[in-house]
Amino acid sequence: MTLADPTPSTAGFAGSTASPRLFEKHSPVTGASLGQFPIADSEAVDAAVARARAAFPGWRDTPLAVRLEALNRGRQVLLEHADDYARKIAADTGKPIFEALMFEIAVVPLFLDHYLKRAPKVLARRKVSTPLAMAGKSGYIEHFPRGVVGIIAPWNFPFQLAVLPVISALIGGNTVVLKPSEVTPIAGEVVADFFRRLGLPPGVVEVVGGDGSTGAALTRANVDMLFFTGSVATGRKVAAAAAERPIPCELELGGKDVFIVCADANLERAAEAAVYGSMGNCGQACVSVERAMVVDSVHDRFIELVKRKLEKIKVGGPDENADMGPMTFAKQLQTVERHVESARQAGAKVLTGGQRLARAGLFYPPTLLTDIRPDMDIYREETFGPVLPVIRVRDEEEAIRLANASEFGLVGSVWTQDLEKGLRIASRLESGQVMVNDVYSSVGHPGLPFGGVRSSGIGRYHGDEGLLSFMNVKAILVDRGKADYDPIWYPYNNKLASAFEVFRGVAGKKLGSVIRGFLGLRKASIDGHDGK
Ligand code: NDP
Repeated sequence: MTLADPTPSTAGFAGSTASPRLFEKHSPVTGASLGQFPIADSEAVDAAVARARAAFPGWRDTPLAVRLEALNRGRQVLLEHADDYARKIAADTGKPIFEALMFEIAVVPLFLDHYLKRAPKVLARRKVSTPLAMAGKSGYIEHFPRGVVGIIAPWNFPFQLAVLPVISALIGGNTVVLKPSEVTPIAGEVVADFFRRLGLPPGVVEVVGGDGSTGAALTRANVDMLFFTGSVATGRKVAAAAAERPIPCELELGGKDVFIVCADANLERAAEAAVYGSMGNCGQACVSVERAMVVDSVHDRFIELVKRKLEKIKVGGPDENADMGPMTFAKQLQTVERHVESARQAGAKVLTGGQRLARAGLFYPPTLLTDIRPDMDIYREETFGPVLPVIRVRDEEEAIRLANASEFGLVGSVWTQDLEKGLRIASRLESGQVMVNDVYSSVGHPGLPFGGVRSSGIGRYHGDEGLLSFMNVKAILVDRGKADYDPIWYPYNNKLASAFEVFRGVAGKKLGSVIRGFLGLRKASIDGHDGK
C-alpha cells in the first residue's frame, strides 16, 4: 500500500441523521454565540467505528515507514495553517494566541521528530536472552496494534491532547475514532481539519463531535481500546465501560500537583515558576501547580515575590495582547469560585484576586491564597483554575509526607540548588512525573512518559511507553525444530533424577548440574522415543 497520493479522509463532524441534535457554543471571552454544532448520536458513533474497523487491516499492513511518512505531512500542514489554527483555538478556549501556538501546535512537530526516530526501534521485533535450561530455543517480543482505538479528549488543550494520542495510536497501525469535548467544538473541527489534510485513507481517523452522550456511546461501541483524558468522575465511567467488554483502557486524569520549595531554592526562579505554573493556560492544566509547599524559613519572602509577579499579569482576551485569558468552561469557573470562597470562609487569606472580574466572559484574576489547611476543598480537590494556594511547611520532610498523602499523583516539582537533594526528593514523590527546578517542561519532553498514579490515572503516553500503550504485546518462542522430541516431553519414566539435577543446577546456579541434567533428559528422551 502506498500513501503517495493523499485521498481525502472522512475525518469530520457528523450526526447520523439529516437533522442531528445541536448544541450552542458561547465565547468564553464575550459570552456571544459562536455557532451551533451537531451531536453525533450512538448510530453515528457506531457508523464511524465501523468505518475505522474497515480501514484497520489496510492501515495495519501499511509499512511503518509509510505510516510515519504520512503522519509527517502534519509538519507541512501546521506550517501552512498554524496561524489560522492558533487563532481558532484561542477564540474557542479564550487562551492567548501565544499559548495556542506554543502549547497546542508547536509540540506536534516536536513529538513527530521524536517518533520518527524512536518508533522503528521501539516497535521492532526484539530478541530476549534465553536461559541455558532452554538451550536450542529463542525468545522474541513483538507488538501488534490493538485495532480501533476510541480516544476521548478534554477541552483544556483541545488540539494537543487530541492530536498527540491519535498520532501515537496511528503510528502503531491502529485506526482511531476521536471524540473532542463539546466545550471546544471549534478546536474539534481544527483537529478534524488537520487529520483530513494528511490525506490518510478513509476511516483511519474518524472524528465524532458531540457531548457527553457521544463520549458514552463511544465507550459502548465496538472499539478495541479506550484512551481517555478528562476528569476522575468521567474516567471511572469510561473504565467501567471498558471493564464490561473487557478492553484495555488508559486514563489520563487530574492532579493536585505539588511544588516544593526548599530553603536553598533560587527563590526568584521558584517564584517566577510558581506564577507561570499556576497561571499558564489560566490554570486549566493537569500539570498546573495546585499546591505550593514552602519551607517556613523562606515562606514569607516567597509570598512577597509571588504576589508582586501575580499582580503584573495582564488578563484579557486573545485580541488584547494579554498574558492570561478567561477560563474556558463556565462549570470549571464555578469550581474555582467554590474552592476560593470556602477556603476564605475557613480562614484562608486571599492576598490578591479572589473574585470574578466585572466584565463579560469567564474572567477570573490571578489569585494567591495562604493559610491553607488540609481540611479545605482547595487543598484536596483539583481546582483547575488561576489560583495558587501556598502551604507553609516545617521542612522538606513534611512537604514530602503531605505530597504523598494526596489522592492524586500526576506531576510534582522540587526547588533546590542542591541537585542531588532534588533528585532524592524526586525519587520519594509518588507521582508520574517530577521536575527539579522546572515547571510544565516534563510534559513537553517527547521522550518522557506521561501519566499518573492513584486517581491521576492508569497507563502512560509520550515516550516509548506512549507508543507501546497502543500495542498488544506478543511473545514468540522459536525452536529450530530439528529434533523429533523435546527433552521434557513424554515419556517421563527414567527422567526424574535428571530433572532434579536440572532443578538443582538452576536453583543453585550450578552450570555443571544444568548441563548434566539436561544431557540425562535428552538421553532418556532418545531411549524412550518410539521413532528411534
Ligand atoms: P470531563 O471528564 O468532563 O470530559 C472529558 C471528555 O469526556 C470530554 O470529551 C467529555 O465530553 C467526555 N465525556 C463526558 N461524559 C462522558 C461519558 N459519560 N462517557 C465518555 N465520555 C464522556 O473532563 P473535562 O473535559 O472537564 O477535562 C478536565 C479534566 O481533565 C480535569 O480534571 C483535568 O485534570 C483532566 N485532564 C487530565 C489530563 C492528563 O493528561 N492527565 C490533561 C488534561 C486534563 P463533553 O465535554 O462533550 O461533555
